[in-house]
Amino acid sequence: MEIEYRQPKQFLTKASGFLAYYTHTLNPYMGCQFGCQYCYVRKSPISLFSGKNWGEWVTIKQDVTHQFEKELRRAKQKGNVTIFMSSSTDPYQPLEKKHEITRHLLEVMAQAPPDFLFIQTRSPLIQRDIDILSRYPGKFIVSMTIETDREEIIRHFTPHAPSIKSRLLTLAKLKAANIPVQVAIAPVLPCTDDFAHILKPYTHQVTVDDYFMGDGSQGRRTKALGIDSIYKAIDEMSWYHPEAYQNVANMMKKTFGDGNVAISIEGFKPKN
Ligand code: SF4
Repeated sequence: MEIEYRQPKQFLTKASGFLAYYTHTLNPYMGCQFGCQYCYVRKSPISLFSGKNWGEWVTIKQDVTHQFEKELRRAKQKGNVTIFMSSSTDPYQPLEKKHEITRHLLEVMAQAPPDFLFIQTRSPLIQRDIDILSRYPGKFIVSMTIETDREEIIRHFTPHAPSIKSRLLTLAKLKAANIPVQVAIAPVLPCTDDFAHILKPYTHQVTVDDYFMGDGSQGRRTKALGIDSIYKAIDEMSWYHPEAYQNVANMMKKTFGDGNVAISIEGFKPKN
């Protein structure tokens, strides 16, 4: 793992594309230790210009000049501020335990909350910040990625990601602290018919997404990653299909109710 440190000129980036419903994205890191095989950032300029393999480098955005506080204040003076954290990294990847960049950004936002904050992660490390999140004065949601209930499938697609069990236990702790949560089944991976029942005790809100709806290019970016070779190798090609998500979405709707299951972008928009 190659690690660099940088004081960025800005933390907030104007949101665009899939996330255009937000005013800004916020990435505490460049690069991501989880290095998921299907990560669309692999083919983005961030990854390509690095000249390194995705998952093997991270730039830590240090805020020694208190840049974020100034930026957030200026953005709020201009109007509505809605933030998606994070679009091209996991804000709670393992390095966060030591460096506490995300924790710092949260502390700043807790002092001057944006109009909405969406926190997307797959990491149990978010539990560390329950103290901030449980008294956070603004509107927000924690969205926990759980793509399947089959641990062996996770290991093929995201070998460095935390276990499903640890993510479920994290949800239980967040829920117990009255922190708003959802599960993002994104992207849908081959799962069992029990998946909805397994999730039920941990959340009442689920979002279902796949490469074809959610990678910003109708699945072309994911195809370019050669992700189909993993499906072939594990003999699960029927799941690599634009309609495969529908069975999962229907299963979730039966258990959670239609109104509590969002499809693709609907589940990632700012909430009222
Ligand atoms: S956790 Fe998210 S940002 Fe990190 S590699 Fe996986 S999909 Fe990409």
